[in-house]
Amino acid sequence: MNQVLVLNSGSSSIKYQLIDMDDRARLAVGAIERIGESSGAVADHAAGMKVVLAELEGALDRSQLAAVGHRVVHGGDRFRGPTLIDDEVCDAVRELIPLAPLHNPANLTLIEAARAAFPDTPQVAVFDTAFHQTLPAAAHTYAVPQSWRTDLGVRRYGFHGTSHQYVSRRAAAMLGRRPEEVNVIVLHLGNGASVCAIREGKSIDTSMGMTPLEGLIMGTRSGDLDPAIPAYIARQTGRSPEQIDQTLNKESGLLALAGSNDLRDVDTAAATGDEAAQLALDAYCYRIRKYIGAYLAALGRLDALVFTAGVGENSPTIRAGAVAGLDHLGIAVSPKRNTQQSKEERYISPYWAETAVLVVPTDEEIEIADQALAVLGGAS
Ligand code: ADP
Repeated sequence: MNQVLVLNSGSSSIKYQLIDMDDRARLAVGAIERIGESSGAVADHAAGMKVVLAELEGALDRSQLAAVGHRVVHGGDRFRGPTLIDDEVCDAVRELIPLAPLHNPANLTLIEAARAAFPDTPQVAVFDTAFHQTLPAAAHTYAVPQSWRTDLGVRRYGFHGTSHQYVSRRAAAMLGRRPEEVNVIVLHLGNGASVCAIREGKSIDTSMGMTPLEGLIMGTRSGDLDPAIPAYIARQTGRSPEQIDQTLNKESGLLALAGSNDLRDVDTAAATGDEAAQLALDAYCYRIRKYIGAYLAALGRLDALVFTAGVGENSPTIRAGAVAGLDHLGIAVSPKRNTQQSKEERYISPYWAETAVLVVPTDEEIEIADQALAVLGGAS
């Protein structure tokens, strides 16, 4: 038994990979997009799972399936690591729906469908929040009334944990050290984006908060803003909390500043002199730079700054902009190394820089598969 099926469901998508763990080969890779949207062919996640099963036909050998690994977005403060799924775990994921109203229901539907489809195969939940459960109270506490914190679960949870964990371990390996020996800042810059400060293998701070809205400027999310702004907009325009939430999550960020949530479009527009696009890039990089400074102060010593995900792995403009002016802190990119396109893990810092600046392609699926097998290994 050497195969693991990894299921990663977003609010309107299902991504899957069937991995042969002996040689880490991908036996099947696919995605169902636009679930529940008028332009999509699939009505809901349950129907989506049926499509996945049909697509897996041929590649999947049930007798070889050791585990199904599920990415679950919100594990609250209950789940600190990968967890073997049973009815009680499903109930707990359901109870966390108020904290992740779009994602956890989708994750749950997929778990239930997969349990029905593979009743004899262990299913493991890998939570996006789990890696950040090591945040000290000083870093995860918001200065709000006690009842919000204790009764309503208001605190920083952080997300992208699987990616931050995988990438920081790979960075340690590139430095020839163990994860417990290094301090790392990971910049996960995809459509969603977050920074994580990792001290000796443990997350000590991260930019996403109770929800994924806080922190960096993202494709369609605003990131940090004055918390008084939503109430001001509600008073001035009569918009509802739900509408404002929607605007800040889906209609803000690069999309609001430059007309596209895709960094490639913004980059191209800025290169041809589009001022709005240039401002978007400047604001995007400035926000990252502020977080690097803050996390440098939180960590004290930094061994590596690591770029990952779609933008981090592919955009020399953003990587150079993010570290501009940080030379005096020992952080810089070599123009030559930074602009070389590659799909490999690599150094992009110049020879003189004290801190390694790295690009590490993220691989959440392999991390989920590894963690799923680790749980089973520990349980047997
Ligand atoms: P998600 O957060 O949806 O998993 P990804 O990590 O795949 O997203 O990142 C997607 C983003 O990466 C795209 O929106 C795009 O802006 C950016 N991107 C992808 N390729 C490039 C590239 N060659 N140059 C600049 N940006 C890129």
